[in-house]
Amino acid sequence: MGDLPDRSAAFFEWYLAAVDAAELTDKRYPVKGMNVWTPYGFLARRQMDRILVEEIERSGARPVEFPALIPQTEFQKEKEHIKGFDAQVYWVTRGGATELDVPLVLRPTSETAMYPMFALWVRSHQDLPLTVYQIVNTFRYETKTTRPFLRVREIHFFEEHSCQTDAEAASARVDANLASFAAIARRLALPYLALRRPEWDKFPGAFYSVALDIPVGGARTLQIGSVHHYRENFSGPYGIRYEAADGSSRLVHQTTFGLSERLLGAVVAVHGDGRGVAFPSELAPYQVVIVPIPGRNGPDPVPWARTLADRLRARGLRVHMDGREERPGAKYYHWEARGVPLRLEVGGREATQATATAVDRHGNRSVAGPEGLEASVEEALRAFDRRLAERAQTAFREAFAPAASEADLVGSTRVRLFGWCGREACGHAVETAIDGALLGTLVGPPPGEGPAPVACLVCGATEEIRWAAAGRPL
Ligand SMILES: [Zn+2]
Repeated sequence: MGDLPDRSAAFFEWYLAAVDAAELTDKRYPVKGMNVWTPYGFLARRQMDRILVEEIERSGARPVEFPALIPQTEFQKEKEHIKGFDAQVYWVTRGGATELDVPLVLRPTSETAMYPMFALWVRSHQDLPLTVYQIVNTFRYETKTTRPFLRVREIHFFEEHSCQTDAEAASARVDANLASFAAIARRLALPYLALRRPEWDKFPGAFYSVALDIPVGGARTLQIGSVHHYRENFSGPYGIRYEAADGSSRLVHQTTFGLSERLLGAVVAVHGDGRGVAFPSELAPYQVVIVPIPGRNGPDPVPWARTLADRLRARGLRVHMDGREERPGAKYYHWEARGVPLRLEVGGREATQATATAVDRHGNRSVAGPEGLEASVEEALRAFDRRLAERAQTAFREAFAPAASEADLVGSTRVRLFGWCGREACGHAVETAIDGALLGTLVGPPPGEGPAPVACLVCGATEEIRWAAAGRPL
């Protein structure tokens, strides 16, 4: 049992080792890129979904669930969208021994499943906005190297779809989605950048796309979600129209908001360390693990450990009591690798005094009880969450550096921020220099201090200059 590979020197080796050590997934399933959610990984996913559902429903969306199969005839209606997904689609062409008249697509995302139904559901302006979401699995035939949570072929996927009266209302929904994501990210202690992607990198069929990117060391970034404004690009081909108050017939404007199990991968990547995963307490399958430490003398600590577990569960905490026949040190190691925020050690002395020795995932110790025992355990969890968020913020700030010239981009070990005129040629020059991608223009303020850029990094133009970022997406 040694430490994991060095994270900064070998990110993916470290990442895979951290995921394996935490037993979040089993990738030995005999279809490449389709992994098994283990019990522990499933519990983490359930917490992730709970947070998503709470924030999304708070913003007015309602749940639906659409079938996984989409007729080819519907799938092909929006041409850009089809072009974007053609190479990644799984096809169902037979039912039993019978060739299907219309082949079926296993959804890579659900625009083309939902929109024929939206055309039936939306009649008048009174039906708008229509805002629904689902959490389902989507399927994409990835040809790049697959990695648990980051790039898989069966994806645990969240998608919101909305129909709005006009472009302005759709833009407002995009902003509402970005606000929801800010709340989700805060609960997971994940600092991120919202970036409006350049034209050549927007979602197939979108009018514009805002991506949510997380720096994960070096100049690397991980896109964990996106929000798209479709205007009438889908409502046209799918005939989603409504009767306006003045009696005219109009096409709806649409938006989508997508997140996936990558969020869990981001938590591993951002909060993990040389000992494995570290979960913020909101996401942790077990927030507290109790380890009884039997001694040669003194009372048996197990009854007190059980009482302690019950008292903490009564406060709504997710508590696991580790009663296995193992050395305490082996148990500590086991739960540290699994990212449990707080361990309570209970020996003879603690049993006698009705206390517990609390040790958080970063090794900070405190004594809980006998007075205010539950409250001090909760405070230890909050203190851990604060430190976790501070560490993530520090790493986030250090992940960026301004670029003053194209030369700064070459071989950069940071994500670079600079002024951009918006021209495609300058954008491509940036991509060549950094050997990565122009991630887009910042939505919201830049991370860190510094004056706003006044000129394009590439051409020196001074008109319509905006903050842009470039890095190397995973
Ligand atoms: Zn330029």
